[in-house]
Amino acid sequence: MSGIAQPTTLLHICCGPCALEPVQRLREQGHQVAGLFFNPNIHGVQEYFLRRDAALRAADELDFPLVCLDTEYAPRRFFQVIHGQEDRRCPACYRLRLERTFAYAREHGLQNVSTTLLYSIYQDRDTLLALGRELEEQTGIPFPDHDFRPGWQAGIDLSKRLGLYRQSYCGCLYSEVDRQLRKLNRLTSPSLPPNLTRPGAAGAVVPGAG
Ligand code: SF4
Repeated sequence: MSGIAQPTTLLHICCGPCALEPVQRLREQGHQVAGLFFNPNIHGVQEYFLRRDAALRAADELDFPLVCLDTEYAPRRFFQVIHGQEDRRCPACYRLRLERTFAYAREHGLQNVSTTLLYSIYQDRDTLLALGRELEEQTGIPFPDHDFRPGWQAGIDLSKRLGLYRQSYCGCLYSEVDRQLRKLNRLTSPSLPPNLTRPGAAGAVVPGAG
């Protein structure tokens, strides 16, 4: 593997801002860190590159090696694995990404696996840990139960100081649709300011539209 000399932990990285705290905490605990950017769940190629480039910036700032599996960015694969379970899709999304991370760790002889998803206060920690234990048993590669969430605000603050791209939805098409629907609901709520009218009504003002 080019650029990575026997790191202790292969850290699956979902985006730059979420990498900052985990990398620092792992190092404090005596781990070397190498990152793996593998996220076929991300909706939109442009969005993929924004997040990938922010992850590379984070790697540069904190000086750790990062491999981006760009040739494996295949949204079709994501839609295949969540097919039929779109309303409870996150466990399949975690599995897709962590299975590849464990496989990569095994291919390259890395000693531990973790993920920046354990930093996010919005992800399902119990599901992630159960999946990690399952993959640990299958591969023999440890997945320690790190909890990076206490550094949530510190990570946000640092990402802002560094000027990293910060996304506004989790990643997949459905999370983007949910975000837009929440925005729409706010616009159509009874507390709508008097100078705005409902979308679709004559003369409606819809911020951001178009
Ligand atoms: S909401 Fe996030 S974790 Fe869940 S399926 Fe979408 S991208 Fe994956």
